[in-house]
Amino acid sequence: MVRRNAFPLLFLCLFPLFGETDSAYTGQNQWDEEGPALIYNGRRDVKKIALTIDDGWVPDYELLDFLEEENIPCTVFIPGKLVNYRPEWILRMDEMGFEICGHGYSHHLLPFKTKEEQIEEIHKTESVLKELTGKDVPRLLRPSGGRLDGPQPTLPILRELGYTAILWDNDVRGYYESDTTERQLAWLRKHLQPGNIILSHFGESMRTREVLALWIPEVRAQGYEFVLVSELLEDWEE
Ligand SMILES: [Zn+2]
Repeated sequence: MVRRNAFPLLFLCLFPLFGETDSAYTGQNQWDEEGPALIYNGRRDVKKIALTIDDGWVPDYELLDFLEEENIPCTVFIPGKLVNYRPEWILRMDEMGFEICGHGYSHHLLPFKTKEEQIEEIHKTESVLKELTGKDVPRLLRPSGGRLDGPQPTLPILRELGYTAILWDNDVRGYYESDTTERQLAWLRKHLQPGNIILSHFGESMRTREVLALWIPEVRAQGYEFVLVSELLEDWEE
């Protein structure tokens, strides 16, 4: 049932990315009086980078096995409704020490919903994840499709709820079906810099594991350390 829904949902998630230019999804971090509001990257003077993985329409155990072998901590953004379908898979990530954060509940684009609906999406996801793992859910959210702007902008709502929006400044770019691992690698290499928050997706068709298997040794050899997004945020406070 979930698989049948996967394609339209995936399309909805990725639609805003198609045709975007190099810099479209990199931007200026924003803080307000309460703390970090909208974050694209960590500090540029510390060689730490954070791998993030979104979705999970396919329970990608191979990618988890690989990341465990490589000892890479990850911040993952999971649509709340997947808790109904993939509880064991999500618990496996929790056991691996991953940071499990919300990605909306339905995976619809948030700013096209009413304020009340957006609050419901965010709170429901937080509550089902907390119920599953027994842990407080980090107040970090990646909006579907990276979309925060629309008829009912999402960022002010997130801030009211104490959330930080997490976007990215580097990208595994598995969503272009015709792409090659070589081109994906070239993108990652070109955009590598301290503080990177790297977007990637679960699912074999996204080639995340293949690309990371080649890229991780390279970046480690350059002295980079993989950390959770929350650690990048803590470093800003130093
Ligand atoms: Zn998504």
